[in-house]
Amino acid sequence: MNPKINVKDYEPIVGKSYIEELRMLASRLSGKTVLNINSTFVGGGVAEILSRLVPLLNQLGVDVRWQIISGEARFFKVTKKLHNALHGKAESISDDDFSVFLETAERNSRQIDFSGDILFIHDPQPAALIAKKSDIGKKWIWRCHIDISRPDNRVWEFLRQFITNYDAAVFSSPNFAQQLPIRQFFAPPSIDPLSDKNKELSVEAVDAVLAKYGLNQGKPLILQVSRFDRLKDPLGVIKAFELVSKNFACQLVLAGGTASDDPESGEVLQEVRERAGDNPDIHVLDIPPESDIDINALQRAATIIMQKSLREGFALTIAEALWKAKPVVASAVGGIPLQVRNRLTGLLCHSVEGAAYALRQILANPDYGQWLGRNGKEHVRQHFVITREIRDYLLIFLTLDHREDVISL
Ligand code: UDP
Repeated sequence: MNPKINVKDYEPIVGKSYIEELRMLASRLSGKTVLNINSTFVGGGVAEILSRLVPLLNQLGVDVRWQIISGEARFFKVTKKLHNALHGKAESISDDDFSVFLETAERNSRQIDFSGDILFIHDPQPAALIAKKSDIGKKWIWRCHIDISRPDNRVWEFLRQFITNYDAAVFSSPNFAQQLPIRQFFAPPSIDPLSDKNKELSVEAVDAVLAKYGLNQGKPLILQVSRFDRLKDPLGVIKAFELVSKNFACQLVLAGGTASDDPESGEVLQEVRERAGDNPDIHVLDIPPESDIDINALQRAATIIMQKSLREGFALTIAEALWKAKPVVASAVGGIPLQVRNRLTGLLCHSVEGAAYALRQILANPDYGQWLGRNGKEHVRQHFVITREIRDYLLIFLTLDHREDVISL
């Protein structure tokens, strides 16, 4: 946890009255404990958000804790397949896979200390812990960070039996949700402008990171930051870059890493390296976890930031890019269109050729790129800063104690 976090530091970004409202809402939760459970402390968007949200809520006086479930490699292989299938990708999932999922949940429910009034369970991996509710009661919320609007039906039916036992579900957008017989709330994710990932950096600090990775400082830099995952389409990014680099001198950086709950990433990294071959303008960087300053510096050094995913959750990388006032070229999937308003806060694409066309537009007209970036930063300030997500959660936690039919908004 970061002892330096201070809620007051957010006043210049969102205004004093916003922070006062957070304090007022937090005070109403005094005496209650909220326990977050997900599957990893590092790697990926959920860990990224929790690592800032938890200390900030503590600072506001709410007793918020964070634990992870443990599992063997085969459990994470199964959850990766479930994740892909919930995103609508075809996967072969056996009855044994479902058993591994259930056994791991069962073991974790014996090991985890569930002390807390509100159990805030993130994503499918720990969803089956809900079985514990019949013993211990309490309020249970399922926080779904992925887009499950077009899932593989068999996998969704399997997961749904757990979700319907929760008191409520939270989705990032109505477009990501499913019909459920429980209460649903909507809260888009957010970024922390003061974290190492997003804070201002000096020119020297940015240059030092470029030098560390052997990047040419003089050439326009196109960047995609993503775990090495096929759904992030790194090969599509390389193809789009190859189309553009015929006419524009530029370099591509694919900066990624692995998450401990993602067993496929090593294989994908290898594929990407092979596809990049010996092109001196394509840099495939395997970035160790917790290299937030490095990622921040690469994003700040970029001329254009891409996110050419085939499927997405919210895509925090977009909010991070926009906060740095960068023009983005990104696929119109998942939460990306919430952040990229086409031709206003970035450019949306639907294919490799579309991505290449958008890249050319910005490379040929840097003023247009800067204008998109400035708009994007303001869009993030208004909608996707962490204080907004904190406010949403505080309201959801408070609402749980009220009957649905007596809430008036
Ligand atoms: N990220 C990182 N290092 C990497 C790759 C990704 O720190 O090598 C971060 C990225 O900056 C973002 C998060 O991981 O904060 C990824 O979140 P996103 O919602 O974009 O994608 P997810 O990985 O959850 O699918």
